[in-house]
Amino acid sequence: MLKSCIRARFLWRSLRSVQGWRIESQQMMSTQSIPSPVIGGVAEDKKLGLATHLVLIGALAAVYYATARAGLLFAIPPGNATAIWPPSGIALGGLLLGGLPVTPGIWIGSFLVNTGTGVSSVTAAGIATGNTAAALVAFALCRRFLNLDTPFRHAACGFRLFFIAAVACLLASTLGSGSLAINGYLPEGQFASNWSTWWLGDLAGVMLVSPIFLLYGARYSSQMPTHAFSGAVVSLLVLGVISLAIFGSWLPEELSEGLLYLPSIALFWLLLRFPPIVVFGGNLLIAMIAVHYTSRGSGPFATEIVANSLFELQFFMTVYALMTLALVGVLSSQREAENRESQLAARVKADEEMRKKETELAHVARLATMGELVAGIAHEVNQPLYAIANYAAASENLLASSDVRHPERLCDLNRQISDQAVRAGEIIRRMRGFVEKSGEQRTVFPISDAVNEACCLLEAEARLQMIAVEIDPESPPPVWVRADRIQIEQVLINLIRNAFDAMRETDGDRRVVKLRTAVVETEVQVSVTDGGTGISQASASELFSPFFTTKPDGMGMGLAISRTIVEAHGGRIWASPGNDGGAVFTVALPIQ
Ligand code: ADP
Repeated sequence: MLKSCIRARFLWRSLRSVQGWRIESQQMMSTQSIPSPVIGGVAEDKKLGLATHLVLIGALAAVYYATARAGLLFAIPPGNATAIWPPSGIALGGLLLGGLPVTPGIWIGSFLVNTGTGVSSVTAAGIATGNTAAALVAFALCRRFLNLDTPFRHAACGFRLFFIAAVACLLASTLGSGSLAINGYLPEGQFASNWSTWWLGDLAGVMLVSPIFLLYGARYSSQMPTHAFSGAVVSLLVLGVISLAIFGSWLPEELSEGLLYLPSIALFWLLLRFPPIVVFGGNLLIAMIAVHYTSRGSGPFATEIVANSLFELQFFMTVYALMTLALVGVLSSQREAENRESQLAARVKADEEMRKKETELAHVARLATMGELVAGIAHEVNQPLYAIANYAAASENLLASSDVRHPERLCDLNRQISDQAVRAGEIIRRMRGFVEKSGEQRTVFPISDAVNEACCLLEAEARLQMIAVEIDPESPPPVWVRADRIQIEQVLINLIRNAFDAMRETDGDRRVVKLRTAVVETEVQVSVTDGGTGISQASASELFSPFFTTKPDGMGMGLAISRTIVEAHGGRIWASPGNDGGAVFTVALPIQ
């Protein structure tokens, strides 16, 4: 008893731990699937003070200025429109991280850098306004059309960023080139080329730089394990060398043209091996090297007119960036699916493990019940054996007396012997069936079968304890359930035996256990009513807890196991006080 109790305790704990894991993993999955809203940029979550905002504005202006100065090295005359304008990506990134309060940093950085190109303050202000407006529009569109928590979850996300950038950058190029033209800085007939270079330069800047900020905002960058860091650096160096060889004219012209798409192979390698941040970094590296050398007249894009070369290069870079973003999206959606699949597999495994443990637990409980049933059943089997011996002796006497005038009497005795043998066999079959360790087997059967079988198994014990077990004759016609019959019988046996125990001190005529079956809406309810001690208020809330018992020799598992079984079948079990004392335990199961 003690041994099975300890084993049951162990099994129950491991069962609970499996369920706990299941809940944790479900919680994990659900928190992963609910994106947290990033409303005004990452910094807004942290409620920053005015001083911090001023520092952020200053920092954004400084970074904008520095990258713009670098970008202007590749400007076409009069020196404001460039082949690649990283600050457009920096401006959007600043808003994504700092939120709307850092907007002045864009305007200040842009204004300062443009006044440095020799244009008037009014013109610089016009250009700065265009750049700021473009960043604000891009920011608003990103918040509307990209999930900022997982911005590159599928291939379409890259295209969305492309369209967002294309629309927003129209503002910067139109206001920028417009300011230059109105204030007389653009030579005659140069507006269109200046406008398109500006637009494409800004577009390339957003496509190449802002993904890095989007990833930072989504906190993807922390996904790279430290040991992969050195591998990423080496891979980026190799990519840099390949790009230098192609765009820096280290190779003969025909060869460098032929190898133009070699960096894309290196990028694919980065895509497969490292987190997206490394891929976007690699893309930016290729772009910087390509622009640097093309503007100096070398590499596969170099032509007589630098502006034309840079124009072609802009297309090349934008397409490259778009392709990379789309591939990052494809890969991350594939990884997400794989992730989901493995989580699902883990869950299925945990479920299986739980079911296995449930079966084992139920078996332990059945063994414990069996131990107590054996005495009664031994008594029960004894009866048919005794009867067989009597009938056999009677027929022997009949044969010895050579009284052949009554052969039908001999036949009758033989039939009695075989009936009793069948009955003994049936009792043993039931015992074996009940105690056998088998996996769950759900079948469709009338609930009355389980009720009758449970009563039969307890018949001997009831007789020994002088308790009457009554099945309500008004029970409804067969109600079918889909369940593991042995398990449901086990539940009923637990309830009936508890009823016996509760009536140890009960007087003669109240020693009755009543079983009643009723149909209530979509479920069938079997109630076990006794005339015992009833349930005290103190124990009412604990009844179904494992190891709760008020009996000196109790294990406290019967009701806990019964509840596990019933709930696994989609049913319910509860206790209530009886009408004239005693207790009523009810099991409700869905009707098939
Ligand atoms: P055990 O029978 O080993 O104590 P159970 O889980 O079957 O374990 O029952 C837990 C407790 O619930 C019992 O110890 C008893 O106090 C209470 N209980 C169960 N059935 C009845 C009942 N029919 N009448 C009164 N109390 C009951």
